[in-house]
Amino acid sequence: MRVPARIYASRTLLEKALTDKSIEQLVNATTLPGIVGYAIAMPDVHQGYGFPVGGVAATRLPDGVISPGSIGYDINCGVRLLASDIYADEIEPHLDTLATALYQNCPSGVGQGGRFRLSDKELDQVLAEGAHWCLSRGLATNDDVRHAEETGRLRGADPARVSKHARDRGRDQLGTLGAGNHFLEVDQVTAIYDEEAAEAYGLRLGQVVVLIHCGSRGLGHQVCTDYVRDFQKALQRYHIQLPDRELVCAPLNSPEGEAYTAAMQAAANFAFANRQVLAHLVRETFEQVFAGTGLPFDVRQVYDVAHNIGKIEWHTVDGQRMQVCVHRKGATRAFAPGSDEIPPDYRAVGQPVLVPGSMGTASYVLAGTQGAMEQTFGSTCHGAGRNLSRTAAKKQVRGEELKQRLSHQGIRVRAGSMRGLAEEAPVAYKQVEEVIEVVEGAGIARAVARLEPMAVIKG
Ligand code: 5GP
Ligand code: MN
Ligand code: MN
Repeated sequence: MRVPARIYASRTLLEKALTDKSIEQLVNATTLPGIVGYAIAMPDVHQGYGFPVGGVAATRLPDGVISPGSIGYDINCGVRLLASDIYADEIEPHLDTLATALYQNCPSGVGQGGRFRLSDKELDQVLAEGAHWCLSRGLATNDDVRHAEETGRLRGADPARVSKHARDRGRDQLGTLGAGNHFLEVDQVTAIYDEEAAEAYGLRLGQVVVLIHCGSRGLGHQVCTDYVRDFQKALQRYHIQLPDRELVCAPLNSPEGEAYTAAMQAAANFAFANRQVLAHLVRETFEQVFAGTGLPFDVRQVYDVAHNIGKIEWHTVDGQRMQVCVHRKGATRAFAPGSDEIPPDYRAVGQPVLVPGSMGTASYVLAGTQGAMEQTFGSTCHGAGRNLSRTAAKKQVRGEELKQRLSHQGIRVRAGSMRGLAEEAPVAYKQVEEVIEVVEGAGIARAVARLEPMAVIKG
């Protein structure tokens, strides 16, 4: 171990984490060349490819490594929160229509294509400009890009570093949800914990909001696949020894490391644009359903966060200011009040952090804190985290039954696959409240609002 490992957990969550390989993977991550501080596990941790989901590792520039497996296959998987001006009791009579319309208008399912089939030139633009590409196409507003991590665009992206195969997989997938863990959800705000932050974010009790969870689709997956393979050769070249080949990495300042960084940023931009187009489709759907009902159909963007990404940031480590690559895999940036990276209207209260729980329980909006800057490279949890593997969940749950049960709770479900639905059942995830309690207790985030599901769209 080059640095210690630090685990954020309660007793129950720690016991849970010890039942899979996540802590072993965390210890493995402490051997990454150039890692500083400590490798971190969030309370929602579970085992992943080489590096745990719910893990954070910062490596020092210029010669520390970047590791694709420590960022994840779904590059810039993330969450976007949209807020309407409709209240839960007002939407109730329209909920079935809305759920069906969202399912029809927002393409979902494995490998599913969308409204666009991008030419090479357009794809290059999306990869370079992310959500900003959507501005000129009438698919985004200035307010949208202002209210997003990095304004929905990473500047170092280089489309030329993305393979033809990756491009072909993504070409028709802009504005699609995908399947599995990804979802689009209509929620209501059921609790406010921090009045000041909620007001800044524009959140009110009873308000209807929309959560979008998805990433870079086949394109990002292929970028990760390509570089995991290429990096195997780099290990020998740079004399890197690792306890697990899945942790493959290359120095940030090597040609391989630079190529992956630029490709990863391009894939991240694809994901930002993907969630942006989905937000646009949600807007169109609200207008379609609510125009003429007397209800307002405006939908405002609260924020958009990445939770699978590598970011070049400045942090203080052992009293020393340094530039690092923060690998966040199943972890969310949670910058403290005052940061320049936060939009001016949120700056006084901290960065919004979006933490989905499950389709049958609750999700949370948190705010970033000074504690996160000091302890976790400005990071916090990203979800409830898995409790059961997909296979175990499928053994315990039948999709149709789950859909019925949720419907009795008033939650409308529209899903392409009942088996897929079972894999994502609420029992497949940990108790999100326990996760939130740990991050709040440790001071690495502050609870702002609780959201509860009204309608869930799944691939
Ligand atoms: P991941 O990106 O790691 O797969 O998922 C992020 C988190 O989303 C999971 O840890 C889980 O807590 C949450 N989640 C999964 N499915 C749903 C859903 O249908 N609705 C909500 N609100 N959260 C979900
Ligand atoms: Mn995700
Ligand atoms: Mn994902």
